[in-house]
Amino acid sequence: MKGRLPVVLPPFAGELFSSWIARHAAFYGVPAPTMLRHCLPEAVSLHIADRTLSRDQAIRLAEMFSMDAETVRQMTFANLQKTAHRFIAKEPLQRCSNCKSGNSDPGPILRSQLLGWRIICPHCGRPFQDLVHCNRGRPFNQYHAAALRGEKLLQDDAERGIQTWTSPLELARLLLMRRVPWPFPRDAELWRYRVLGVVIPDLDNVLAREKSFPPSPKHPIVPLHIRPALLAGVAIVERAGPEMLLMLQAHTFGHNRNRFIEETDHLINPAFGLPGPRQLQLI
Ligand SMILES: [Zn+2]
Repeated sequence: MKGRLPVVLPPFAGELFSSWIARHAAFYGVPAPTMLRHCLPEAVSLHIADRTLSRDQAIRLAEMFSMDAETVRQMTFANLQKTAHRFIAKEPLQRCSNCKSGNSDPGPILRSQLLGWRIICPHCGRPFQDLVHCNRGRPFNQYHAAALRGEKLLQDDAERGIQTWTSPLELARLLLMRRVPWPFPRDAELWRYRVLGVVIPDLDNVLAREKSFPPSPKHPIVPLHIRPALLAGVAIVERAGPEMLLMLQAHTFGHNRNRFIEETDHLINPAFGLPGPRQLQLI
C-alpha cells in the first residue's frame, strides 16, 4: 500500500472521478494517467476507471486520499445499472452556466455532464447548455413537463434500479428504433423516421432539418435540443402502459416491425395474459 498523499484536493459537488484525478495530476505536475497508476497500478485508463472502479479499489484510493471509500465510488459510474452505461458519453455533452467553476485549472468536469438522459442540472435545476451542438433552439419546449418526468424516470432507473412495468432506460432505447412511415415518404431519407415520431409527432419535422441523426438503440445518446422529445416519449409510454407498445408495433413494417416485436412482446404479453414471444415472419 502506497502512503497517503501530502496534499488532497477536495472534490467539487458531483465531480467525476477522472476529473478529480486529473486535478491532482496537474497539482503534482505529472500526466493524469501517471497519477492514476501511482494510485492504482493495475488501472488501464481514466475512462475505464470512471466506469468500473471496484469497491476494493475505492477503499485503497480512500486511504491514499484520506477520505471515505463511498465518496470515491460515488464520483464514478460504477454503481449505475448496466443498461445505463450506453447512455454515458465519453466527453462532456453539456454544462450548467450556473454551476461551472472557473477558479481552478483544470476546471472540474461534473459527472452529470456525461449523462445522456439529463436536460437540467441536478445541482441547481437550471437547463443544461449544449457543448456539442450550438444554437439549435428548443424545438420541444411544449413537452417540457413530460420531459422532466421522463428525466426522473431514467435517473431513478439508472442510479437506483427503480422500474415500473418496464425499464424506462429500455423504453428510451426502443423508441429510437427505426420505423417505416406510411405513406412512404418521397424523400426516402428513412434514417430520420423513428418509433418515437409516432408518440411525438413533431419529431419527424424537426429531424427533417437535421443533416443526420446517428442515435440508435445501440448508441442512444440524443443531442440536447432533441433529448426532451425522447424523455417525454418515455414518460408518455410509461404512463400509458403496455397497450401503447402494442399500438406502436402497428406503426412499424417489415424488418423493423419484426425487430420491434422481438424486443417488445415480452413487455406486452403479460399485460394481456398471452404466452411468450410470437413466431415471427416477414410481414
Ligand atoms: Zn447547476
